[in-house]
Amino acid sequence: MHQPPIPHLAVADPELAGLVEAEATRQFSSIRLIASENYVSTAVLEASGSVLTNKYSEGYVGRRYYEGQQVIDPIETLAVDRAKALFGVEHANVQPYSGSPANLAVYLAFAEPGDTVMGLSLPMGGHLTHGWSVSATGTWFRSVRYGVRADTGRIDLDEVRDLALAERPRIIFCGGTAIPRTIDFPGFAAIAREVGAVLVADIAHIAGLIAGGAHPSPVGHAPVISTTTHKTLRGPRGAMLLSDAEHATAIDKAVFPGLQGGPHNHTTAAIAVALREAAAPAFRDYAHAVVANARALAEALVERGFDLVTGGTDNHLILIDLTSRDIGGKPAARALDQAGIELNYNAVPFDQRRPFDPSGIRLGTAAITTRGLGVGHMPVLAGWIDDVVKAAVVGDTATITRVREQVTELTAAFPMPGFA
Ligand SMILES: *Cc1c(COP(=O)(O)O)cnc(C)c1O
Repeated sequence: MHQPPIPHLAVADPELAGLVEAEATRQFSSIRLIASENYVSTAVLEASGSVLTNKYSEGYVGRRYYEGQQVIDPIETLAVDRAKALFGVEHANVQPYSGSPANLAVYLAFAEPGDTVMGLSLPMGGHLTHGWSVSATGTWFRSVRYGVRADTGRIDLDEVRDLALAERPRIIFCGGTAIPRTIDFPGFAAIAREVGAVLVADIAHIAGLIAGGAHPSPVGHAPVISTTTHKTLRGPRGAMLLSDAEHATAIDKAVFPGLQGGPHNHTTAAIAVALREAAAPAFRDYAHAVVANARALAEALVERGFDLVTGGTDNHLILIDLTSRDIGGKPAARALDQAGIELNYNAVPFDQRRPFDPSGIRLGTAAITTRGLGVGHMPVLAGWIDDVVKAAVVGDTATITRVREQVTELTAAFPMPGFA
């Protein structure tokens, strides 16, 4: 059953309540390896589902356009102060609705339409909002993209520097959605300094690892940091922009009134709760366990003969190139989902297949670590992934059914926040 319970919803809208219950059950009984997902605590769920959703509060603490902010102001102050303390930054804006709008605010703050901006190309692991062509950021700005080396799968900072010197971007984004290796923030900072660009570290995926000390921090290197709150940071769906004092005013103006109206106060409250959780000693253990699980899973996958982009991982994320397995990422992901192992198909660097049918699958260990799975489970998972991928190639549905049963049995032993 969904936790907290939803008895009023069940009476008022049985159809919708049934769907919520079905999703809670689905999340409980599957092995969730989607690298951008997690399970939030019941406390975060309660804050997200509170009466704070009823309140309008355009503006910032002490400078609002509506009355009745006696309670909302201290809530936003809590979130801001906790974000500043957790990441060690001078300024935090907790109002962006999600990661993509947060990045759009960065463009609005530091570039003019048509200006040159630079980011990691999407098929190489970057995010849409780092200037990819189908994103507004790629049509309203002149975007140039760096990639990764064909031989290592890793970003080559000499290539980034050459491109930056030739193109002179206003903004350089580092970070992305499918980068299995540590991001060299000091290296990017040196390049940005040399060309006079604003360096933006987009830590959406790794914010929880940084908070927990399991990945180096961009603070002191990137003056502007963008992050979602719902990936490894394990908060509600939302985002934050962190910065030094110098860039604070431009960021605040860009978020409101530049792009947004009233902040989502129920989300702000849930972000505050998640930041408190992330500051607790147990979260450091969590962040390190996420990385230990990813390393163990990567090793077990390599032992099973899988090709991993860059050969392994430093963080929570693994990218498998299935080219040698005679199957595309999409049919593999679908078969794995049928077996209760949830992940996404993904392009790999220099992918020879089409974007909607690419060669890779992406895995992450943030959610299964929250669930309590440890390094000892990783060889078992790798074995199931291997069995299902092989079964998908030959259409062996019996194996997929067998793994589905084993997944159900395993997940039943691990409690899920949000499900009782
Ligand atoms: C997830 C992600 C975003 C966007 O977040 P949304 O909340 O989905 O808009 C931005 N940048 C990176 C690197 C991401 O991984």
